[in-house]
Amino acid sequence: MSYLLALDAGTTSNRAILFDGRGQVLSQAQREFSQYFPQPGWVEQDPVQIYSTMLGVAVEAISQSGIQKKDIQAIGITNQRETTILWDKKTGQPVHRAIVWQCRRTTDRAEALRAAGLTDLIQKKTGLVIDAYFSATKIAYILDQVPGLRDRAKRGEIAFGTVDSYLIYRLTGGRTHATDVSNACRTMLYNIHTEDWDQEILDILDIPREILPQVYPSSHFFGHSQAELLGREIPITGVLGDQQAALFGQACFEPGEAKNTYGTGAFVLMNTGHNPIPSSQGLLTSIAWKMGQETTYALEGSIFVAGSLIQWLRDQLGLMEKASQSEAMARSVEDTHGLMVVPAFTGLGAPYWNSKARGSIVGLSRGANKNHLVRASLEAIALLSYDVIKTMELDSGLDRKVLKVDGGAAQNNFLMETQANILNAPVIRPRSIESTARGAAFMAGIGSGYYRGLEEIKDLWQEDRVFRPQMDPDLRHRLIQDWHHAVKNCLAWTQREE
Ligand code: ADP
Repeated sequence: MSYLLALDAGTTSNRAILFDGRGQVLSQAQREFSQYFPQPGWVEQDPVQIYSTMLGVAVEAISQSGIQKKDIQAIGITNQRETTILWDKKTGQPVHRAIVWQCRRTTDRAEALRAAGLTDLIQKKTGLVIDAYFSATKIAYILDQVPGLRDRAKRGEIAFGTVDSYLIYRLTGGRTHATDVSNACRTMLYNIHTEDWDQEILDILDIPREILPQVYPSSHFFGHSQAELLGREIPITGVLGDQQAALFGQACFEPGEAKNTYGTGAFVLMNTGHNPIPSSQGLLTSIAWKMGQETTYALEGSIFVAGSLIQWLRDQLGLMEKASQSEAMARSVEDTHGLMVVPAFTGLGAPYWNSKARGSIVGLSRGANKNHLVRASLEAIALLSYDVIKTMELDSGLDRKVLKVDGGAAQNNFLMETQANILNAPVIRPRSIESTARGAAFMAGIGSGYYRGLEEIKDLWQEDRVFRPQMDPDLRHRLIQDWHHAVKNCLAWTQREE
């Protein structure tokens, strides 16, 4: 028997999962690590702790499984994207805490790039909308912040990497400074057409090329983990950013195949094949993965508030004890009693793009109760997803073939039924909702030659349930129309005098 070890470096915790060759989970271990919030809106992590917790869970998962270490075929890494780490190449020690993707400290720098008229240039080259989320402005910040760092960087003493790079660097004992295309394309420094770091953008941000990692395909031999770390040398042969790994783990290999991950927020990615498709509506164009010489692209749209709306109902309003109770509550009523929720807690994303918008509840009447509110909230998650998916279809001109779902809130059958109804298309949930880690394991399996190709992986992907649309077309039409009215109403509130 051969096994694949997935290292899933998340935003709040690290997990290691051992998969057998058929994609079944053999063992897993998970550990949280510290988050630092030095100022409102700022988020930092300790790169050494990210590495040490990851190593810890890897050792734990292996020892729990009881398998022989020699039977671990390869390691696959997947990670929180964009989070920025700079370290000393000689010692492997970070020169600054990791600046996490969520951190808003470089908002002004991003704004300055927009004000300088660089929006089109950056979008054309990188597929991204200028934002502080991406690594570029975070790197520039650290280079400015740490005295003498830019000079050291120019002398080749400093390395930059996202979390995957840092893990690879440490696991290989400093022998490999590399990343894969799916991570590189989220830095806002990588040209997704030429598939190289973009000198013009590097010059604009005064980032020395010397700090950048080598970029490889997602399935590639990145190096061996050092023998003393996991008991023997294990090749690292798959690396993917978390959302792309989920798309891969969901076996969305054909253009038009899409997945939606319903977590705290929701992330929709659609495979668009071998051509990068620019978005006219602020969706992101990313590299999904590269295998051999073949690059596959994706369109990406995110919904800022999804599962966190249910958390809000639970924790702030005290409507339930567990998020999973939302399903029975929603089903206990026949409709929402005219209620609609627009959960614009942090603004609205695609296709509305309004950062000033705040949430609203409309249609309140005396008969409305908490179950109606819960039902309307679950509907809102599906309606926001609908908007992003429709935008994606329009932008790409592709017929969406399938929507596969994962993430914590995808366990909610009512939400999935509602999603199918609103989309008027089937929604498919896999048996294993570990899409991200599976994606990394599968990619490592391809990189190590364990799997011969995508067909083999496709056969390993198993569906749990298909949710088919059942809504009366008039009702559906009405619901979507009402939703767009509710959004308009919510946006109108932003027009008030400050
Ligand atoms: P993340 O990876 O973003 O931390 P998860 O994929 O673990 O998120 O999903 C957790 C989120 O899903 C929470 O916001 C929670 O409120 C929501 N959630 C979990 N189970 C359910 C459920 N059965 N119904 C609705 N929402 C749920």
